[in-house]
Amino acid sequence: MVRSGDCATGASMIQRAGGTTPKAMRCAVCDAELQDAVSDHSENQPYLGLEFFTYGHYGSAYFDPIDGTRLILNVCDGCAERLESAGQIRRIGQTHE
Ligand SMILES: [Zn+2]
Repeated sequence: MVRSGDCATGASMIQRAGGTTPKAMRCAVCDAELQDAVSDHSENQPYLGLEFFTYGHYGSAYFDPIDGTRLILNVCDGCAERLESAGQIRRIGQTHE
């Protein structure tokens, strides 16, 4: 299990000039603070992180609204790398070579 503060890439430790970059949502795994990749962007666009979303799934007792509503969450690059190495994230589909 990933614990708070385990992020190898240290997205929360990134210092950017000016320090006024809006914040994206925090990492859902380690709770690291993530900056927005685009300084004047009002949407969630994590720097050194990924945004995931779902419209819900049949079978979920928590979220399956069938009205276009989405849930979103961010995972920092360090957590995503560790989760993939542990088999908790899978790559699917074809690569574009
Ligand atoms: Zn993280």
